[in-house]
Amino acid sequence: FFGNEEHKIVMVGLDNAGKTTILYQFLMNEVVHTSPTIGSNVEEVVWKNIHFIMWDLGGQQSLRAAWSTYYTNTEFIIVVIDSQDRERLGIIREELYSMLERDELSKAAVLVYANKQDLKGSMTASEISRQLDLTSIKKHPWHIQSCCALSGEGLYQGLEWIVERLK
Ligand code: GDP
Repeated sequence: FFGNEEHKIVMVGLDNAGKTTILYQFLMNEVVHTSPTIGSNVEEVVWKNIHFIMWDLGGQQSLRAAWSTYYTNTEFIIVVIDSQDRERLGIIREELYSMLERDELSKAAVLVYANKQDLKGSMTASEISRQLDLTSIKKHPWHIQSCCALSGEGLYQGLEWIVERLK
């Protein structure tokens, strides 16, 4: 699926956004190797030749500096949004733009998953795109994908965008 080269994907989002659910949908029932974590809320999962590094945004600021070591050689940032969580979208927006300013992430492409589309009253992908002002991002390729991590709907389309970019 991803060829033979190593790839690094950083997956971020607020707690409860659906990161773990998405990751496990990707990995299906395959045995995954989880590396020991440095910060208590940083998780590293190695699957085939892909390194997924995952953490909750809006967490401990004190750990933030140490996380930059995880950014090096990151090809993709996956931002997982709980589409019902209007109140905290501003936090993600701020975190996303501060991440995109970092040198280590200058070449990273951004995939935004507008998750939990099955829930009533969730924001649409275009609403989230507007709120996050995604069109203002000029230096990074980006893509937003609606999904429901519980059923898996939309996850593959998002992944396909990533795979296309690796060709
Ligand atoms: P994380 O904290 O970002 O890793 O979030 P989790 O993957 O643990 O998910 C948090 C909660 O949201 C869990 O109860 C999931 O079952 C639920 N959840 C995740 N994705 C969806 C979704 O697409 N729809 C609904 N209704 N619930 C979801």
